[in-house]
Amino acid sequence: MAEPTQLAEVVSLTALTPHTTELVLRPIESPLPFKPGQWISLQLPIGDHPPLNRAYSLAEPPTSKGHLTLVFDHVPGGQGSGYLSSLKPGDRLPLSGPYGHFVLPEPEMQHLLLIGRYSGLVPLRCMIRALAEQKTLPATTLIAHAPTASEQLYHDEFTALAARHSHFQYLPFVSETPDGHVGTLEVIKQLAGNGRRVTPMIAGIKAFARPLRSLFMDLGFDRREVKLETYD
Ligand SMILES: Cc1cc2nc3c(=O)[nH]c(=O)nc-3n(C[C@H](O)[C@H](O)[C@H](O)COP(=O)(O)OP(=O)(O)OC[C@H]3O[C@@H](n4cnc5c(N)ncnc54)[C@H](O)[C@@H]3O)c2cc1C
Repeated sequence: MAEPTQLAEVVSLTALTPHTTELVLRPIESPLPFKPGQWISLQLPIGDHPPLNRAYSLAEPPTSKGHLTLVFDHVPGGQGSGYLSSLKPGDRLPLSGPYGHFVLPEPEMQHLLLIGRYSGLVPLRCMIRALAEQKTLPATTLIAHAPTASEQLYHDEFTALAARHSHFQYLPFVSETPDGHVGTLEVIKQLAGNGRRVTPMIAGIKAFARPLRSLFMDLGFDRREVKLETYD
């Protein structure tokens, strides 16, 4: 069954890095419960055949206020992200959701190996925050790729979390191109090679995510064991 569409009001827009923005929305008609890792669809009043539908992952676990926090990167010439950048507090736009199966496994979790590039870190950050808030964060390694040092999303937050939790390992990498996996391949082989069991979850654009899934499969993982969220 299709999820109902409702209007949401823009609460705030905040720059997180020079080329990413956090957008907070308040659904006007009814609360929108979701699981960390899921996404919503925004129906943007632009394009040749409006609406232009664009998907955005939730960055914060559900809050008592019911606000929905999204983060988007500014795609050069991108219609959707360009439109979102132009929004002002009080503006309204239709949305629907939540959608998606890129959610934490239940019930028991083995070592989580979370891998994201740039805005692909958004759903992973939501999961990490939910687990940390519930004090159920299992042994977790987060591999976080950014196109430049100044575009490292949530770098301070992840660094602080790693300092507080010895079982949370934060491994940031800067790779200009999505297929620049240098360093990451070695880490994956160390953590997931030789039959070691981890739960891999990978998010980002296909050029980043797909070669990593292939690596896990080369290491003996079944395709379905490697959870993937691709953006393009
Ligand atoms: C399930 C799902 C969840 C998503 N969650 C997020 C999110 O949390 N944050 C977010 O910024 N985007 C997210 N996206 C992508 C988003 O829906 C849009 O595709 C993105 O904002 C680009 O739209 P655009 O109209 O600005 O660019 P378009 O004109 O559609 O240009 C797309 C081009 O930009 C490149 N590109 C650069 N960055 C991105 C990106 N982030 N996503 C897709 N393509 C990109 C692609 O390689 C592609 O060639 C998600 C997509 C899916 C399917």
